[in-house]
Amino acid sequence: MIRLLEHEGKQLLARHGIAIPAGGLYPDLPADLPGPYVIKAQVLAGGRGKLGGIRFAETLAEVARESDALAGWKAGEEVSRGTYVEEKLSITREYYVAALVDRDLGMPVLMASRFGGVDIETVPAEDIIRQPVDPLIGLRPYMVANIVRRLGLRGTEAASFSEFIRKIHALLVGEDAELVEVNPAVLNDAGDLIAADAKIVLDEDALYRHQHRPQEFRGTPFECAARALGVIGVELDGDIAAVMNGAGMTMATLDQLVATGGRVRGLVELHGAKSQGPQRIAEILELVGTLAPKAILLNFYYQFRPLETIAEGISIALKRTLPERRIPLVIRMRGVNQEKATGILRPLGCEVTDDFELACRRVVELTSGAPAAREATAWRS
Ligand code: GDP
Ligand code: MN
Repeated sequence: MIRLLEHEGKQLLARHGIAIPAGGLYPDLPADLPGPYVIKAQVLAGGRGKLGGIRFAETLAEVARESDALAGWKAGEEVSRGTYVEEKLSITREYYVAALVDRDLGMPVLMASRFGGVDIETVPAEDIIRQPVDPLIGLRPYMVANIVRRLGLRGTEAASFSEFIRKIHALLVGEDAELVEVNPAVLNDAGDLIAADAKIVLDEDALYRHQHRPQEFRGTPFECAARALGVIGVELDGDIAAVMNGAGMTMATLDQLVATGGRVRGLVELHGAKSQGPQRIAEILELVGTLAPKAILLNFYYQFRPLETIAEGISIALKRTLPERRIPLVIRMRGVNQEKATGILRPLGCEVTDDFELACRRVVELTSGAPAAREATAWRS
């Protein structure tokens, strides 16, 4: 679940052709931003209006004063992550428009109400239109017409509302969003519908399908690069990097390294990447190398897939950029085709064992500069 701030959500709306007010994150405002202005604290929590996170101003001097006043503003425990300043819309009517994935129905649902601009939970159910959109049928004109008719809209207003609904639906589907909520969508005197607020939640499991969207994952460059490779990366400040398969193995390895006196620089959980072949494994290892750890632990227990994929990936990385970094590798492998995988790695000078605790001790020893443990002779396949 990736929740976007209002200003990030509005960028996504704009990319889908939905009208948004002109604006910018304070103090980077467009030079020609027309007043009067609305000044909005950027928190994920809703109900900013009621809490005092939305201010209005007539002049740029007032904008500066209100923006400074909103710096560090909190909605409950959540501290504002910036102040967004926009041209203030003249509101004729406020509507509620949303598209979301309904877990009970198992399909997208479009929602609309003439009672926009207030908390939708306070609007009676009979005043909220709900139109399911079966993905096998798609969004049909009659579905849109049904919503617009029940809102009582005609002519140009009906046309712009229909267009708005189609774009919101296209955004939900195209961006793999779980929720796209515009409250209020403002109808101006010219009959245009403009998104005055945006609440968008994206499905993080679909992130790999949208690599053009760098802003919604707030991680370090390493963590973002790991995501782009389809794996989970965590950057810390120690000196051991570890690569594992599975969340359980990752937690166990982290615990064991810490219990053995190690300090962890970074973790990668393969998260299905094992099926992506040796090239991908090699890329992941090269990425781990960019963390410049003092040693790398590779810890794999495969009960269903052959370990050679991993071994071949390691071997590719060792022929490319990894050796330049002179980072020792400690490999623990256990499972399907263990002998074969070990056979690929030993000639490359890798330390390979099938003993989890031994591997953890060894990598800690390599990074702590402590004398070689007695087990150093116990390396076996
Ligand atoms: P929320 O309270 O966190 O949902 O923040 P909104 O962005 O929805 O703003 C709250 C309310 O402030 C809206 O429902 C509007 O009534 C009002 N508001 C926000 N932007 C404008 C604007 O540009 N013009 C006018 N007149 N009112 C606005
Ligand atoms: Mn709102």
